Amino acid sequence: MIQSDDMNDSGIDCEKYRVRPGDRVSLADRSTDDTQGLDRKAARAIYKRNLKQLDEFQERLYAESKRSLLLVLQAMDTAGKDSTIRKVTANFNPQGCLVTSFKKPTPRELDHDFLWRVHAHAPQRGHIGIFNRSHYEDVLVVRVHGLASPKAIERRYDRINEFERLLADAGTRIIKVMLHISSKYQLGRLRKRLENPEKHWKFNPADLEERKCWDDYMAAYEIALTRCSTDYAPWYVVPAEKRWFRDAVVTGLLLNAFNEMDPRFPPPDFDPADYPPESLK
Ligand code: AMP
Ligand code: MG
Repeated sequence: MIQSDDMNDSGIDCEKYRVRPGDRVSLADRSTDDTQGLDRKAARAIYKRNLKQLDEFQERLYAESKRSLLLVLQAMDTAGKDSTIRKVTANFNPQGCLVTSFKKPTPRELDHDFLWRVHAHAPQRGHIGIFNRSHYEDVLVVRVHGLASPKAIERRYDRINEFERLLADAGTRIIKVMLHISSKYQLGRLRKRLENPEKHWKFNPADLEERKCWDDYMAAYEIALTRCSTDYAPWYVVPAEKRWFRDAVVTGLLLNAFNEMDPRFPPPDFDPADYPPESLK
């Protein structure tokens, strides 16, 4: 097992996957199937422990009601964004957690700046927000398909960093995760979807077209990861082919963030001694 100063008590070194400011990201050099020597059983046990602790932290965050947490998920099709969200939120109180999926922008959204629709879903104080795709699509799919001018796209990286800075200054802790898979793995998942009638609803023939642009997507991801990983909104490239490991890592990242944030129950604005149990009628 890997030892590191950054290792949390879960036994997984999640910080290993962080993109440090100044790193030039090469996705080919980053593992898609790392498990840090753990097997499924060990990783599942860690995941379950993490879930319990996250539950407690979520309640504190909600009670404190001063700060928020935002998990941004980006990935190629079939990498497991949906199942990651299901697994991470398994124990959350739905009242304090909001998941937003960003689809192709509507005409109304396109009539505004690219961050307009995103800002509206930034998590409010006390809440956890999860973005299933995000403002990064505006430098990923948009770049790959030339949906905006190169000049406009070029400016967006700085605008994204400023936007995330704004959220961070307002008390939002931001964690950005790219679920990293290989092209070969995606092919296997697409085939599986076609073999299973209950998964046909998830198959989209357009995904095969997108797949042809794999290398362009990887290049676009590398630019975004290189230019937009900051101290206040770091990117993590999480190996996602072993889903049980991925779940342990993503919950571990949230846990690390919560440990640093250390949300506290607020002190009462009354003296509990004034209300002995027998005084309640
Ligand atoms: P899915 O997440 O599979 O339901 O697909 C959502 C689709 O919306 C994906 O093909 C994304 O690339 C696309 N999408 C999301 N945001 C944008 C955007 N800002 N511009 C263009 N396409 C987008
Ligand atoms: Mg899709």
